[in-house]
Amino acid sequence: MPEKVSAIIRQLKSAGYDAYAVGGCVRDSVLGRTPHDWDITTSARPQQVKAVFGHTIDTGIQHGTVTVMLDHEGFEVTTYRIDGEYEDARHPKSVEYTLNLRDDLKRRDFTINAMAYNEDAGLVDAFDGRGDLKRGVIRCVGDPEERFTEDALRMLRAVRFAAQLGFSIEENTERAIRKLAPNLARISAERIQAELVKLLISPHPEMMRTVWETGIADVILPEFSAMMVCEQKNPHHRGTVGEHTIWSLQAVPATKVLRLAMLFHDVAKPACRTEDADGLHHFHGHPAMGAEMTRRILRRLKFDNDTIRRVTALVKGHDDRPYPLTERAVRRAILRNGQEAYPDLFEVKRADILAQSDYRQQEKLQYVEEYRRIYGQILAGHQCLTMKDLAVTGKDLIEAGMKPGKELGAVLKQMLEAVVDDPRLNTKEILLERFQKEWKK
Ligand code: ATP
Ligand code: MG
Repeated sequence: MPEKVSAIIRQLKSAGYDAYAVGGCVRDSVLGRTPHDWDITTSARPQQVKAVFGHTIDTGIQHGTVTVMLDHEGFEVTTYRIDGEYEDARHPKSVEYTLNLRDDLKRRDFTINAMAYNEDAGLVDAFDGRGDLKRGVIRCVGDPEERFTEDALRMLRAVRFAAQLGFSIEENTERAIRKLAPNLARISAERIQAELVKLLISPHPEMMRTVWETGIADVILPEFSAMMVCEQKNPHHRGTVGEHTIWSLQAVPATKVLRLAMLFHDVAKPACRTEDADGLHHFHGHPAMGAEMTRRILRRLKFDNDTIRRVTALVKGHDDRPYPLTERAVRRAILRNGQEAYPDLFEVKRADILAQSDYRQQEKLQYVEEYRRIYGQILAGHQCLTMKDLAVTGKDLIEAGMKPGKELGAVLKQMLEAVVDDPRLNTKEILLERFQKEWKK
């Protein structure tokens, strides 16, 4: 236990209260992993916690949480509590404080998250969390149906913890999820987003299959359910759109943007599928339509605009293949896809190919590596790729007699396209001369 955490616990104890580290930090310590934060649970009421420490912040005082600051580091200290009756499968109507640690542990979601520890008492493990850690099992504390009825988010949390830890979900817990998954419809998009992202960037994003099998996807991401049952008869593929998507998640580095881009790169395939005379499937236009669908889905899940912009650009560009692979064609592709999409786009393309069939796979991978190499060459050569690299500015155009406004922007864009095509044009003289001749009208 870090010195600051034991100091907080010691201070609460010498003021006459009980206190323990609890939840995720205890679980991770038992597993031999380094916890990312330490939560403390105590018999002291929030006002009493505030009286013990010099510097505190009321972060969630209505649920009994006060953040104790120790040289710029914050530790959440929460009073032992029993959650009152639940409304809406979401919020307890009231919280009630208790002096009994076991009652506080009982309200927690899973046995592995319901352990507490301090240096005097050692590990307090009333529900055999340690046994479930050994067995690799996610199990509700108490009756799973009751616990999921109280708070439906716990169903998605179960899959998320299974994905983070490489665990399986205990049978009764999983059966209750299958039964109660529709209740997730009442959970806010923000809470679902947080759990979904943790699942996606975990070591086991293939647990998205469980999200589908249990019926959770039908409620939070019906577009993914449609992908799971969309066959693709085509030599390039070896599974449904959904299976391909899952393999691609496993093949891409674990960042939020990349994993979201893989999750949605083929989201429009079910809607775009056509069958040719030989019975083969084609999916014309799926990247552009997929980008639009992705934007809608990510908005619905309340993602921030920066994430939405980056992910949709990758979905839109995932299948783009500059040909022939020359610097010029790649410069045009960068202009089309937006420079922000690089170098992530190469990771997306590579993962997509790795999740396809063996058919011409080496050739496809080599193409991506060549694309990446030429991109590197373009960057190293500081070639003009954006307006700010252009030898002419809006101000220059105004001085040459143009009025400020939309048309000026359009002329700059045309100049950029011309320069991306032929970098030799990027001098003020040449561009202005062309501008006078051709573009002024
Ligand atoms: P992480 O490492 O992802 O932070 P964590 O176990 O700390 O994992 P949190 O979401 O931070 O997870 O929650 C802290 C603790 O609070 C959990 O370990 C669990 O004991 C309890 N908890 C959190 N959310 C719920 C919930 N919806 N229902 C019941 N208990 C919960
Ligand atoms: Mg936590």
